[in-house]
Amino acid sequence: MARFGAAKKHFGQNFLQDETVITAILSAFSARKGERVLEIGPGLGALTQHLLTSGAVVDVVEIDNDLIVHLQRRYPQLKQIHHQDALTFSLMDLNLSQQKVRIIGNLPYNISTPLLFHLLIQKDHISDMLFMLQQEVVDRLAAQPGCKAYGRLSVMMQLQCKVQALFSVPPQAFKPQPKVMSKIVYLVPYEKPLYAINSMVVLEDILRDAFNQRRKTIHNSLKQYFNSEQLIALGLDPKMRAEQISVEQWVKLANTVSSL
Ligand code: SAM
Repeated sequence: MARFGAAKKHFGQNFLQDETVITAILSAFSARKGERVLEIGPGLGALTQHLLTSGAVVDVVEIDNDLIVHLQRRYPQLKQIHHQDALTFSLMDLNLSQQKVRIIGNLPYNISTPLLFHLLIQKDHISDMLFMLQQEVVDRLAAQPGCKAYGRLSVMMQLQCKVQALFSVPPQAFKPQPKVMSKIVYLVPYEKPLYAINSMVVLEDILRDAFNQRRKTIHNSLKQYFNSEQLIALGLDPKMRAEQISVEQWVKLANTVSSL
């Protein structure tokens, strides 16, 4: 791997070092010749090199100026190096025409949740995504009702993507080592949300209200939207807590609010 000054903590730079882990990630992603691939945060190129070897057409988006210089020198085969914040990057800039893009990244953990939401808005252009995230975030993405990890992120993501938590990666696989465990997640956006939803904005609003007070019953946390009789009429026990309500039931609640 190329020489590079000190890793920048504010850019969440934990570079992958462990070849076994790198191989496992790339075989889970399995890039093929001719596919359009976007790597977010290529860093020193631990994944990039192998993606290029597969024959895929690879764009990267990287924020760190020092790494841009390195990537330009080292990987002239890249279709384009976008020197930009991934949080503002538009997939339109990939000039995809009809083809969808596959996205991969060992993501900077400090921006992972807003980045996932930023990509969800553009999901019509995405065929699938494989990310390394903080283990706790992957557990929240994949959590089922009744689990402590189940929350707003689980509902929003599972409504719009098939979520598969793959395998954990220990801190020793990186340099410098992060303080937390990491995990790989594979996301495949649905053509249409799993359940027909009238308004994502309303859904986000009621999820925020309910999960910000997750210890309260829904009779309390959703009282600005429903009284007990209305909850019962929707097939819900008013004594339930937010974390016990399934994705389908959340959609039903949101659709009721948006049709009032
Ligand atoms: N892919 C490399 C690897 O696995 O070794 C680097 C992963 S490192 C965890 C995260 C990378 O994302 C770094 O290269 C960092 O500079 C870059 N990065 C951080 N914030 C970013 C942002 N907002 N937009 C684009 N890239 C960002």
